[in-house]
Amino acid sequence: MAEAKKTDLMEKIVALCKRRGFIFQSSDIYGGLNGFWDYGPAGAELKRNIKDAWWNDVVRKRTDVVGIDATIIMHPRIWEASGHTTAFTDPMVDCRVCKKRFRADQLCEENGKKLVIETGSEAEKKLKLPEGVRCSHCGSDQLTEPRAFNLMFKTYVGPVEDAGAVAYLRPETAQAIFAQFLNVLNVSRQKVPFGIAQIGKAFRNEINPRNFTFRSREFEQMELEFFVKPGTDAEWHQRWVEERLKWYESIGLPATKLSCYNYKKDELAHYASACVDIMFAFPFGVQELEGIAARGNFDLSQHQKFSGEKMEYFDDETKERYIPHVVEPSAGVDRIALALLCAAYDEETVKDDKGHTETRVVMRFAPRIAPVKVAVFPLLRNKPPLVEKAQEIFRMLQPHLTTQWDDRGNVGKRYRYQDEQGTPWCITVDFETLAEKGDALKDTVTVRDRDTMKQERVKIGELVNWFKARL
Ligand code: ATP
Repeated sequence: MAEAKKTDLMEKIVALCKRRGFIFQSSDIYGGLNGFWDYGPAGAELKRNIKDAWWNDVVRKRTDVVGIDATIIMHPRIWEASGHTTAFTDPMVDCRVCKKRFRADQLCEENGKKLVIETGSEAEKKLKLPEGVRCSHCGSDQLTEPRAFNLMFKTYVGPVEDAGAVAYLRPETAQAIFAQFLNVLNVSRQKVPFGIAQIGKAFRNEINPRNFTFRSREFEQMELEFFVKPGTDAEWHQRWVEERLKWYESIGLPATKLSCYNYKKDELAHYASACVDIMFAFPFGVQELEGIAARGNFDLSQHQKFSGEKMEYFDDETKERYIPHVVEPSAGVDRIALALLCAAYDEETVKDDKGHTETRVVMRFAPRIAPVKVAVFPLLRNKPPLVEKAQEIFRMLQPHLTTQWDDRGNVGKRYRYQDEQGTPWCITVDFETLAEKGDALKDTVTVRDRDTMKQERVKIGELVNWFKARL
């Protein structure tokens, strides 16, 4: 029963995303492309607000972090140095009967089992399916042994498609930061500890994209590499976990749905000293939003080895020379957008004008993150004085906050639309706004609150400050 409810909820959220322009299937008119999603008008604003909030809080408001914006296709040696060419793989199995393909670890999990690691290091480990694992599609046990499948998308640079021209779409944004470490260090007047941040697209040819946008093949990351003095890793790691948790609350994710998963020693990569995943309780389970890893000096050392450039930092004060260690908070924009959509979704029973009960769907986004902050309506679209006044207010507010114009249908319908889009406030210009001189309501409008549905009269001249005080 509980399971059925959860799927139900996810279906409702997916339907609302399409209906209100948050998320569409990519290439929808051609039947979509598995693992690719497009953001519509509301979704594009939501995503931009997430990225702006991150960039403002992680880069602009700090003195010890600077940003970069690097290319998606980079020198292929970068991926050899980082280990992605050999080790960025997922174990894949095929069902010999129905021909479906699965990620072996996920299939084992669905069968309540664990994938067996027989031998080898990260790069050459040999995996085996435990007894009793069955195809989750047709139930057959005729499954192939797991094979390593590299998740990087390959392409060719230049007109000749030969081995020398192979390049990859980046599977993470982090490596560009390491590759540009020396250039940034030379220009940015920063001293260790300091960080380099980047927001951008990443691509992974996931074997099994699923759970709506949660696991996509093209997605966006927001990554920070925070370089620290060796020995201070644990302290900085702890600080970043706390900072990041607070940030999720600041964009409106409830603390009750957030949690941390602490990696055990045997779950860590060989170079890492700690890793914490920030988790969110999605309707389909508790899943990762962001990983925060203390990666030692693995990445810079690897690039030093592969490029021949010294990736060292010289400390003027202590006269020490060292390769900095790094703490990496790495978050996915699309997963955060999905978490916000899931957390915001609410239904309540309300009475309409005629006293009939109906279900109101409302997206309770924090105003900071809501796609549109305020919608402006003329009470009637065919009364020019109302329309002119409303236009005037719209133009007055537009430079200050994301404002939407709406004059379709009746006011009740417009409220429902804005509720589903998560707009915190709606302004209606009515005949009282245009009242005779001396009337107390002249030059006031109704401001309706999304959550309480209460309306209050506010003077037009005070609107900008009224909203500023609430944002
Ligand atoms: P998972 O175990 O879920 O595949 P991961 O641990 O491989 O994720 P990282 O490599 O740590 O993920 O990537 C950092 C962040 O990038 C993740 O926390 C997530 O928010 C985002 N991310 C990674 N893969 C995807 C994907 N396929 N679709 C959407 N976001 C992703």
